[in-house]
Amino acid sequence: MSIESVRTRPISVVALLSLLVACSPGQSPDASSQAESDPPPPQETEFDGIDLIVEGAYVVTMDDDGTIYENGAIAIDAGIIVAVGTSFSINAEYDARVHIEGANRVVMPGLINGHTHAAMTLLRGIADDLALMDWLNNFIFPAEVEFVDEEFVRIGTELACWEMIRGGTTTFVDMYYFPDVIASVVEDCGLRALISATVIDQRSPDAENAADSLDKGSDFVSDWKGTNHRITPIFGPHANYSLNAEQLQATRNAADDSGVPISIHIAESQFEIQYSKDSFGQTSIEFFDTIGFFDGPTIAAHVVWPTQAEIGLLAEKQVGVIHNPTSNMKLASGISPVAEMLHAGVKVGLGTDGAASNNDLDMWEEMRLAAFLQKVGQMDPQALPASAVLRMATRGGAAAIGLADRTGSLEAGKAADVIQVSFDDVHFVPTFDVVSHLVYVADEQDVSTVVVDGRVLMRDGEFLTLDPARIRREATALAARIQSALEQRNRQPSTDDD
Ligand SMILES: [Zn+2]
Repeated sequence: MSIESVRTRPISVVALLSLLVACSPGQSPDASSQAESDPPPPQETEFDGIDLIVEGAYVVTMDDDGTIYENGAIAIDAGIIVAVGTSFSINAEYDARVHIEGANRVVMPGLINGHTHAAMTLLRGIADDLALMDWLNNFIFPAEVEFVDEEFVRIGTELACWEMIRGGTTTFVDMYYFPDVIASVVEDCGLRALISATVIDQRSPDAENAADSLDKGSDFVSDWKGTNHRITPIFGPHANYSLNAEQLQATRNAADDSGVPISIHIAESQFEIQYSKDSFGQTSIEFFDTIGFFDGPTIAAHVVWPTQAEIGLLAEKQVGVIHNPTSNMKLASGISPVAEMLHAGVKVGLGTDGAASNNDLDMWEEMRLAAFLQKVGQMDPQALPASAVLRMATRGGAAAIGLADRTGSLEAGKAADVIQVSFDDVHFVPTFDVVSHLVYVADEQDVSTVVVDGRVLMRDGEFLTLDPARIRREATALAARIQSALEQRNRQPSTDDD
């Protein structure tokens, strides 16, 4: 990454206009004829400046050249980044309604969590230390059928959004049940999201089977498509071990008809690869390619077990891959060949997966573990450097989920999805290399300010769009109900034959 100075711009029309407004009389002839004892009416001069300036001791843009501005700033208006440059040049050119100071703060693009199941925050820690299929079939799926309803999804998604905003995530790709409820929460809290309606061939919290979940998912997509530019409703067929070929094709067709992407789990575990060979006579990726699944935009979570040829296919078909290192380590799914995929030109982003297999939504931890997992997996400390990981969590992730032209870097014309990371904590002292600290040191708690679409969602750690005290209260009460139901069930004598 190079540190560049910015070109200076001439004083703008906006600045001249604001100067003229400041010099204008401000009172109408009517006002001057008022009795002297009357107080003058409040002046309502129209503010001609922009909405927001965010400053930073460093501005890490993630643009094509990897530009980092020392003492930089971002000018934001109507949700869009208007300009990025040195603090001096931005302040000379623009006057902003809100000005967020940047002493000892690093400004960077918001993080992109490319794969999660947000409401599973409420199942955090309910079942740990198990293999994927045991964990899913014997704990998660039964618990979901028993406990997940609209209220669960609302509270769990709010809890997740609180954590994601707290940690500087500005965009996430969700896959869960009752997607209307998820979309309403996202609409209110101000994050950006692709929200997948889960399609799965079993009784789930919001559907009876694959056909029912696809019907309901289609309704969700048509209801929400185009209603809020921060929210993209998509389809989330679960996997090729929970749906058959016809069901997967039907979901692909529905997504293509609606013009929306799909998010799906692919090649996550060796179980899945073997299941695919046994059921379809092909590995997962071969199978999906054979049924034309990759001909439409696809966000593939995990991809731990692609072959060399399949890596080339993923690049050719422009499949977005989301690497979830914590989940892959915790469920012992394996080490995804991320460095090889990046080398082959596959679009790779990062995700946390759900909080039941992580157990948090901390993208800083994902960055760190993504780097370390490649290094130890290949016994090569250069396998995945910090700059490549930071790219996966920002611009690379945006490309993987189809939002490359909207977010992921700080450049004029893109949506203003911007965070400030405070470098006040002792663990940043000294600072030789900003990118190194962002990847190998920073935590959720170091994020001080979060802006999405030009709207400030958190400022100096204070949440402006959601009420953490209420969410904590509701989440704790709901978890207590789940706990007591589980305890009651465990107290009842088993009627099963063992
Ligand atoms: Zn998942």
